[in-house]
Amino acid sequence: MLQKFNPQNKDIKVYINGQMLHRNNAKISVFDSVVQGGDAVWEGIRVYDGKIFALDRHLARLHDSAKAMAFVDIPSKVTIKDALFKTLKANNMRDGVHIRLTLSRGEKITSGMDPRLNQMGSTLIVLAEYKLPVYDQSGITLITASVRRNSPQFVDSKIHHNNLINNIMAKIEANIAGADAGLMLDDRGFVAEANGVNVFMVKRGELLTSNAHACLPGITRGIVLEIAKELSIPARERNISLAEFYAADEVFTTGTMGELTPVKLIDGRAIGTGTASFKVMQKINKRFAEWTKEQGTILPF
Ligand code: PMP
Repeated sequence: MLQKFNPQNKDIKVYINGQMLHRNNAKISVFDSVVQGGDAVWEGIRVYDGKIFALDRHLARLHDSAKAMAFVDIPSKVTIKDALFKTLKANNMRDGVHIRLTLSRGEKITSGMDPRLNQMGSTLIVLAEYKLPVYDQSGITLITASVRRNSPQFVDSKIHHNNLINNIMAKIEANIAGADAGLMLDDRGFVAEANGVNVFMVKRGELLTSNAHACLPGITRGIVLEIAKELSIPARERNISLAEFYAADEVFTTGTMGELTPVKLIDGRAIGTGTASFKVMQKINKRFAEWTKEQGTILPF
């Protein structure tokens, strides 16, 4: 599945460091750290019916990532919230919106890796687009990628940074194989996550997801675990092998971009009956849809 250009986004305005710019003029310097070294952190956030979903969780993760990367000029959560509100207001956006929030280490005085070359403050970008959940709800297919997801031995996957190359390489493998996403293993061979989403499986009524040893601890993943608790569905995080995923009754992915999505095939093995009609997932999904309506930071306009 390949996203298409949405004409609703033809004239959107993008926030860059306080300025609202038409998408055609929304550009950053070639000296910016994100161009120079992917040296930035980011969040994908959704707006449902006049409310920004899980905003505090996203801002906390953005701040944690920036702190772990030793950014010295981190805008406050209030500043970032104001930037989000300003962007949504400028575009008159209230529903069906996905926001790509990026905070880079900022512009450098000359090209180079050294963060001491960053003497102009950070760069904050808010890109809000009309975008409905992107994955096919009738079920997606996964293939196992050869490239592994980083464990804390390398660059810790808990940092939500813009160095997405290993995940992009996994996605390329999936594209070549005609699958929707690449399933990535950790350094020990356990399933970590797919290239842009977390993975869950259900076996005999129990919900399982991989330990956050080598995956992004996704906000949607965390919410699904909370919903399972609320609905008294037994749930655990543990090391899970590929063989267990192949033989699962249900498999689904979670992420802000695609919400909850059933998986019908992994490496050619049909999951469950192969129809992607999953009872436990549907129960959780129903409650997730309610959360998106009930919760969220109300837009002040
Ligand atoms: N894993 C990876 C690698 C991701 O990039 C994302 C999306 N940011 C996710 C999982 C899902 O995380 P979330 O539920 O916070 O969107």
